[in-house]
Amino acid sequence: MTATPHTALTIAGSDSGGGAGIQADLRTFFACGVHGMTAITAVTVQNSRGVQGFSEVPVETVTAQIKAVATDMGVDAAKTGMLATADIITAVAKTLDEVHIGRSTDVPFVVDPVAASMHGDALLREEALEAIRTELFPRATLVTPNLDEVRLLTGVTVTDAESQREAARALLEFGPQWVLVKGGHLYEAPDCVDLLSDGVQFVELTGPRHDTPHTHGGGDTLASAITASLAKGLGVPDAVAAGKHFIERAVAESYPLGSGIGPVSPFWRLADDLP
Ligand code: PLP
Repeated sequence: MTATPHTALTIAGSDSGGGAGIQADLRTFFACGVHGMTAITAVTVQNSRGVQGFSEVPVETVTAQIKAVATDMGVDAAKTGMLATADIITAVAKTLDEVHIGRSTDVPFVVDPVAASMHGDALLREEALEAIRTELFPRATLVTPNLDEVRLLTGVTVTDAESQREAARALLEFGPQWVLVKGGHLYEAPDCVDLLSDGVQFVELTGPRHDTPHTHGGGDTLASAITASLAKGLGVPDAVAAGKHFIERAVAESYPLGSGIGPVSPFWRLADDLP
């Protein structure tokens, strides 16, 4: 028998293609040496060409999954991905309070405000944006929007470092402790610059831009790598730096799969000398 590893819970949607959503979270948790647990919110039908549709999981089943693992196995950190509807978001927020997960507790909580796939397929009903702002953001230790999600949530269009700061301030108004405004979609920039802020510190994290179309699941993988580090007890700035390192390597080693967009890869983290 060995020591129990740290545990992380993802509340998110399933990707039948295995590269994003719950599947990306689990393979990242695994690669980071953290025991992953899941509350599935929706089952998407998708492949490398996009999302063909999805079915939501009944709200009671979503919250029952969270309660089942939190009350028995314990959660060292949690994250949300695709939540699909306002009803699911409201119920998840209430349940997180009941099981003591979130910024006012000892258990860090990361919100990746997933709105659409990179193919442009909607993963969130439009009326649910308000629930993300009002129900989830105030409970979040960290929120990790990309630039499209920033625009949807705040109305701010990020084009440079100054508007990235403006976006960070606008997001902090909704009540999360920290925000990470991901600059990866700012294609004019030679590097990827993400901005991390708690309203006092503004930390720019710069990384190389890799020239690959295969970045499916990149946002989920970054958020789950950060969550894994938080589960291990790192503070937010250190966990974000570790997550950034993880996603850079995962993008550098992404691979083609199917005829469309292939996934980022967590395999670099695993030993390659096994038979
Ligand atoms: N499918 C699910 C279930 C997701 O959660 C996400 C992103 O969070 C996606 C698809 C889209 O991934 P991408 O935009 O990286 O293609």
